[in-house]
Amino acid sequence: MSEDLTKPELESEAELAFEGALRPKSLTEFVGQTKVRGQLELLLKAAAMQDRTPDHILLAGPPGLGKTTLAMIVAHESNRPLRMSSGPAIQHAGDLAAVLSSLVPGEVLFIDEIHRMTRSAEEMLYLAMEDFRIDIMVGKGAGATSIPLELSPFTLVGATTRSGLLPNPLRDRFGFTAHLEFYDESELYEVLRRAAALLDVEIDKDALREIAGRCRGTPRIANRLLRRVRDYALVHGRRADITTVREALDLYDVDALGLDRLDRGVLEAILKRFDGGPVGLNTLAVSVGEEADTIESVVEPFLVRVGLLTRTPRGRLATPEAWRHFGIERHTGGLF
Ligand code: ADP
Repeated sequence: MSEDLTKPELESEAELAFEGALRPKSLTEFVGQTKVRGQLELLLKAAAMQDRTPDHILLAGPPGLGKTTLAMIVAHESNRPLRMSSGPAIQHAGDLAAVLSSLVPGEVLFIDEIHRMTRSAEEMLYLAMEDFRIDIMVGKGAGATSIPLELSPFTLVGATTRSGLLPNPLRDRFGFTAHLEFYDESELYEVLRRAAALLDVEIDKDALREIAGRCRGTPRIANRLLRRVRDYALVHGRRADITTVREALDLYDVDALGLDRLDRGVLEAILKRFDGGPVGLNTLAVSVGEEADTIESVVEPFLVRVGLLTRTPRGRLATPEAWRHFGIERHTGGLF
């Protein structure tokens, strides 16, 4: 099986190191998302002028669009230390209490996948975000008491691929919510140009444009494809021009739109097994052997964005564009 180059999630330690090297360190280096950048800049400046911790920030959007990078930038630009954690790592309220009580004044706490925290931890977080205080329960049953604990003021930066799953009381406690969008090709070109310069990769402009059109609107994937193209050019002793890019991406099964294995699996299931839909999310999930949550938060946003899928009240529907992209003839005749 070939490596899945277009998966938006992180793959390995090597990739983590590679991403670290390419991560923009400041808002000016951060490409695209102009509106969010402007809003964040204002929020950080206002906090600095009033000498207080910036408001809590929620970053929502599919994987690989820059949520972790922005959290790091918030800490860096406001000159504050950063603590990184994630929803799945905080399974008990006690885990969260341990993190919160050890924060230094002004620290930025990043919680990735914040929608995956348990309910008890979430409830502790409400009070912490609002009053910089938590109540620690000691003992059990009738003898249980709660001891209040003051916390250092901190800024919470939460990231989620599913803002719809966050309970309202949690969502309301963020002073600012940013919805990150997929990047357009000119922005991805800029991401790639910057990465090529940092990695010292000599590559033609039209080759960069070709990668920009095939990376699923996602900077993480853009950087990953660039790395593969660099390797391909190196191994074959070739210049990284547009022909090299096409050959390298064909080798890795990245199609003209940059759809990944799961994107293709979902669309092919709708087209071939459900005659284009509409088909319900759960039925679709079972049919491709994937969690409904992943399909809804990772696969669908991109397919909707490129016009291959629509979500209707009766289920998911493939568009005429999807039939064309897969070169499948629509089976229009009914049974009778
Ligand atoms: P997320 O947390 O949303 O999954 P990351 O912040 O980890 O995404 O971004 C993945 C990689 O993509 C980063 O290492 C960075 O190199 C690159 N990247 C993301 N957004 C941008 C951007 N706006 N400009 C340049 N590079 C970016």
